[in-house]
This record gives sequence, C-alpha cells and structure tokens, in this order.
Amino acid sequence: MTAKLLVRDVWKAYRTNEGTVSVLEGIDLTIATREFIAIVGPSGCGKSTLFNLLAGFEPPDAGEVLVDGQPIGGPGRQGILITQRGSVFPWMTVRRNLEFGAQHMPTTERDGLIQHYLELCGLIGFEDAYPHQLSGGMLQRVEVARAFMAKPDILYMDEPFGALDALTRLQMRTELLRILNRDSHTCLLITHDVEEALHMADRVVVMSPRPARIKRVLEIPVAHPRAMSHPALLQLKEQILQELGLSVSGAEYDTTSMPRADLVHRRPLRPRNGRALTYMSPAALSPEAAAASGAERFDVVVVGGGPGGASAATILAERGLKVLVLERQHFPRFHTGESLLPALWELWDRLDVTAEIEAAGFVPKQGVTFGMTRSGDEVALLTSEYPEYFPRTYTYHVERSRFDQILLDNARQKGAEVREGWSVQDIIFEVDRARGVLAGPNDGELRHILADVVVDATGRDCLISRRLGWRRPDPALNKVAHFTYFSGAWRRSAEEFFPDQDSIAGAAVTDVHTVDGGWLCYIPLANDVVSVCVVLDAKAAGQIRGGPQERFDHAVASCPRVQEWLRGARPLMPMQTVSNIAYLNDRFVGHGFVLVGDAAMFIDPIFSSGVTLAIRGGIFAADCILDAFQRHDFSEASLKPYEERIRVPMERIFRIIHNWYELLDREDGSNMLLQAQRTPWLRERLIVLLSGGYEKMDLESFMLAASHSAA
Ligand SMILES: Cc1cc2nc3c(=O)[nH]c(=O)nc-3n(C[C@H](O)[C@H](O)[C@H](O)COP(=O)(O)OP(=O)(O)OC[C@H]3O[C@@H](n4cnc5c(N)ncnc54)[C@H](O)[C@@H]3O)c2cc1C
Repeated sequence: MTAKLLVRDVWKAYRTNEGTVSVLEGIDLTIATREFIAIVGPSGCGKSTLFNLLAGFEPPDAGEVLVDGQPIGGPGRQGILITQRGSVFPWMTVRRNLEFGAQHMPTTERDGLIQHYLELCGLIGFEDAYPHQLSGGMLQRVEVARAFMAKPDILYMDEPFGALDALTRLQMRTELLRILNRDSHTCLLITHDVEEALHMADRVVVMSPRPARIKRVLEIPVAHPRAMSHPALLQLKEQILQELGLSVSGAEYDTTSMPRADLVHRRPLRPRNGRALTYMSPAALSPEAAAASGAERFDVVVVGGGPGGASAATILAERGLKVLVLERQHFPRFHTGESLLPALWELWDRLDVTAEIEAAGFVPKQGVTFGMTRSGDEVALLTSEYPEYFPRTYTYHVERSRFDQILLDNARQKGAEVREGWSVQDIIFEVDRARGVLAGPNDGELRHILADVVVDATGRDCLISRRLGWRRPDPALNKVAHFTYFSGAWRRSAEEFFPDQDSIAGAAVTDVHTVDGGWLCYIPLANDVVSVCVVLDAKAAGQIRGGPQERFDHAVASCPRVQEWLRGARPLMPMQTVSNIAYLNDRFVGHGFVLVGDAAMFIDPIFSSGVTLAIRGGIFAADCILDAFQRHDFSEASLKPYEERIRVPMERIFRIIHNWYELLDREDGSNMLLQAQRTPWLRERLIVLLSGGYEKMDLESFMLAASHSAA
C-alpha cells in the first residue's frame, strides 16, 4: 500500500501554568492513499491535537508527519478541513461559494467542475440560494462540495456533522459515502460517535485517555453500504466502547429507545437562593382553567428586550409564532457595550435590519488598536486586511440606546408584541418544566402569562440561572469595570492607518490600552461623545484608595496617551460600575426554557464580543425553538442543540480570554500582539477573532499557540 500520510513516533506536550502537560506519546500510524480512517477517543484525550499535527496546523515536539514522503510544513492545498462550524460564506449564493475556492482555474474548467459537484452533492436547483435559505443538511452538502472544489488530496473532517440532528446526520453520512464512492479521497475523520466511525471508515483508531497513545486499530470487515445491525459491526461497537471504558451493551446507546422527556420520572427544580419558584399544577395549566382565570397565552415569552431577546423574538415572530417580549425598562435606555464587530453584518441580514442600522448615523469602526503603555508599542489590526471573511470590512461604534431600540422595533415590525415597562418577577414551573411567567407592568398587578417556551434574555440579571444556582462566577477573571461618557475628548481618525482610498469618512478605531491593574477601552461615538471604560483586576482595584471615580482616574493617569486625549474633556454622566464581570452558567436550556446572551454567559469585554454573541445566541435559540415547535417537543433534549451550537463560540472566546490577560501583560517579544505583527497566519486569525468570526476558521491552532507562548 502507498502511504499517503505517515506518522512516526510523534510526541506533543504543552506548557501551562500548572506545568507541562503531555498530550501525545509515541504515535505511529500509516494511512494509505484513498483510505478512510476514523479516530475515536475519550473527550480531551488529544484527538484534536493529533488532528492538528496531521493537518500541519502545528509541528510535533518529536517525531515526524510525512505527506507523500515529505515532511508536512503547514496547512496547504493538499488538504482541506471540514468542520461542523462550517466555512460557507453566508453572503454568497451556493454557486458563488463554490466559485470562491476555484478562482485560480480557467473559467471553463471551473464551470465544469462546479456543475459536477452541484450534481454530485445534490445541489441542482439550489445554485442561487443563500446559505440561510438552506436546511442544515443542505448547508453541509455545500460545505462538502466546496471542499471538493479545492481538489484536495486529503479530506480532514473534524466532527463534520456534529451540529446536525440525528436523522440529518445519518443522511449526510450516507451521502458522503456515496460521493466518496465516485470521487475517492484519503479521509481522516475525528468523531466521538462510535457508530459514525463504524459506518464510514475502513479502519478505526482508538486512542487512550491523555497522554494519548493508540490503544487499538480495528479493521472494519464489512463492505459498503453497511447496515449498522450487522453482527460484526455490533461486536466492534461493543469492543470499542469497552476500550473507551464504556462497557455497556449497544442497546443502551440507542437513543430511539429513550423514554420521552415528559414520561421520565421528574422532580421539581430546586431553587438555590432560598426563594420558592412559582409552581402550578397541570390542572391549573389546562387551557380551560387558564382561560377561566384570565391568564394570557403565547407560543413564546421572551424576557428582556436587549439584543439577545429582540433577535430571538424577530426570528420567531416572522415565522408566525405568537411572541410576547417583556422589557422592564422603557426604550431608549442607557446600556454600555458600544464597540461592535463585523461578524454582525450576517446576523443583521438574517434579522432583516441592515438598512435601518446603516441609516442610523453610527460612527464606522475600521479596526482595533492595542497600545502597550509601558513599552510604547502599538499594534493596529484592521478588518480590511482580510476582506474575504465578512460582507463588509467595517462595523460601527453605536450608542446602545439607539441601537437596541432599532432591534426591538424590528422585532415589533416582524410581529412580536412588545411590552415596555413590564417586569417578570418569576418563571412559572409545572414540576421541572417552564410553563410561563409571572409578570406585570412596573406599577401594576402581577398576572400569569403562559407559553410553551420561555426565553430568558434578562442580561446580567440572569433571572433563571440565579434562581436555579446555575451561575458560576469565574474567579480567575474577577474584574470590575468603571465607565462613563465624555464630550470634548480628542478623536483619533481611522485615516491614520489607511491609504486614502480605503478609509471611510468619519471612521474611527476602538483603542485598547494597558493601564495599571488592567486595561481601558476608548470608543468615539457620534456627536462628539467618547465612551471610556476601565476594566481592572478586582484585587488591584481594591488597593486603590477611594471609589469608582478615583480608580478610573488612577487608571487613566497610568496611561499618558489617553490622559492627554481626555485633557479638557467634560464627563457627561456620573461614573458607572459593573463588578464580578465573568460568569458561565452550567446549562443554557431546561424543559421549556432557554437562556440567551448575557443571561447564559458573560466573559469579559476585552474582545467586544457581548453584543455579537447575544444576537447570535438569540438567532440560534430561535432556530432551535422553531424546530421544537415542528416536533411539538419542548423538552430539554429538544432544545439542547441550541446550547451545543452556541457553546462553540462562547467556549472558544472563554478559553482565549483566559490566556489573553497574561499575553497582554507581556511587553517583550512573546506578547501575542507583537508576535502577530511578525507572523501572518497568527495575525489573520487574530483579526478574524477580533471581528467575531469565531466559527469562520480553525482557531484551535491560534489557541494552542496562545497557550504555548503563555507558558
Ligand atoms: C463594561 C462592559 C463593556 C462592554 N463593552 C462591550 C462592547 O464594547 N461591545 C460588545 O459587543 N459588548 C460589550 N459588552 C457586553 C454587552 O453589553 C452585552 O453582552 C449585551 O448587552 C448583551 O445583550 P443581552 O440582550 O444579552 O442583554 P442586555 O442588553 O443587558 O438586555 C437585557 C434586558 O433585559 C431586561 N430585563 C432584565 N431583567 C428583566 C426582568 N426581570 N423583566 C423584564 N426585563 C428584564 C433589561 O432591562 C435589559 O434591557 C460590555 C459589557 C460590559 C459590562
């Protein structure tokens, strides 16, 4: 057999704050040309690290990886990666997406190839559709067709169908096998799904827990198409599960035999803060009893009308559901969080609100600059350097009062009923299932409002997760923020960083600077207003005498550049404070409810990710709720795909920020920003990350490099 990929005695370790962690030890593997290999292993065992080495995203510490007999120097045209996160450009049609990777080809060859893969992947008739018009399965076909267009020798697949529901996943597995049967490639699949591995691969590699070694390599002796009930496959499944320490019979893994959520023995959820939750009996919740008591009924109640709640309500209402948004305050209301990210364009398009936002007169933002006060170094990272990732290479600095109002009005226009000045006091539970809310006008009586699903979008109030004790503050990121607005402060123009033709009139950048005990963010807004926010380590802040104003002044005084910018400026409001910034909830869904935006997690404002994650979470949650209505199943399991989808970007940003603070504090050559000045692939990833493209490319190698240099 000809070896396509040869892995010889590969070792890999990472240095962390706790010491050196050995991840891979002595891996040997030979993969033949056109062979299909699946790698399975316990979670966290090092599968992804092995995958990164095989794809050339990072080098091994010892040993070698050869492709066609040559050491793999880095990611290249010979291999292409398919992940569940996807790389299809949402603003391009299916045909344009396929064209994109083949721009170097002569037109006739390219058009022939596009036609071939449109047919092969079952996309005929969808050439002019945009990704958001396609189902999850169709989107994954575009993903596959796009990958094939690059004519790769090796297909690297990292949980490619992980984001799809069980049936679509099965269908896509069969589809991919059919395509590979006609257009064969060397394939490498990482999966936690033993059945998927057995269904598709020629050989399955079973890894041990970390430090990972290869425990077994099993040949699959069954020809395609494979019936998963084949005795040899069942036996192999049992064997692999045993190797993984999951010694159970296959039947227990059969999810179709799981009892329906509403038939499982259920216990009431226990509030952890001492206050009783509001429970109602099934009899009191019946339509007749509800009607008799005057309770209102909606399909979905959204609590909170910020970006997360408004986005969820927009998608749900425009698809015809009866949606009620309850917002405690009257809009426009003040909110911090003014620096937005270019990833929002795709989300605004989905919400059909782009035109309103463009017309609002917000200040265009063309990038971010990081100033390291002690060394005087400054790094400017501009989205226009990588225009292929986002529909537009700029975004905005917004007054949140106006921006949030536009989003909430948009939800209204799409059919949601919005009640401002209404507070939700509690969630109504029937045993462990949310059935509605107890709410009323701020100065009026409380009433029962019933719904099939409750969306908690209450921001940092975290209505449900605080009541259930799911909210976990992150002690490693114990920060406090002090912020206010100024007029008459100096405004830096983005023109400074661009040749004339690329700069947008009146555009700015978000300026981030290190200060004593933390960092500060300087955001020019419209009408001569500048928002300045200081984020300090809580311990460092505690050592500064005085209150919020003194801490703010102390921080600004430690950064001469910003001190100069603020000379003579006039504060427009008293100093504001937010403490205990970072937290992550244990769970984002339960029976009949989902948590969206800051109500699910808030990490840290340094990457200005909050609004993007809240809007993305609102849209993802709405997509999942729409599916739940199709099935009429509002159980936790039915809503779980939302959590799985939004946890990907959330946990990525969580991990990166954990590394970030140490990296930012370094003012020598190991500082990540200074490294990015010298290393184009790092710079590209950093810019995509700072633009909110958390799922747009492989950021694993970025994170690994980050933790590596942090050690
Ligand atoms: C210091 C700081 C700086 C930040 N900077 C940025 C930045 O530059 N860029 C960025 O993108 N993000 C930033 N963020 C984060 C950003 O502000 C949030 O992530 C974003 O507002 C989350 O939107 P949301 O819809 O989840 O919550 P919110 O915008 O907070 O909306 C929640 C809404 O729920 C309502 N509500 C709460 N409880 C109830 C109740 N019981 N009944 C009815 N209504 C209720 C509230 O009135 C509120 O309007 C920053 C955050 C902080 C703390």
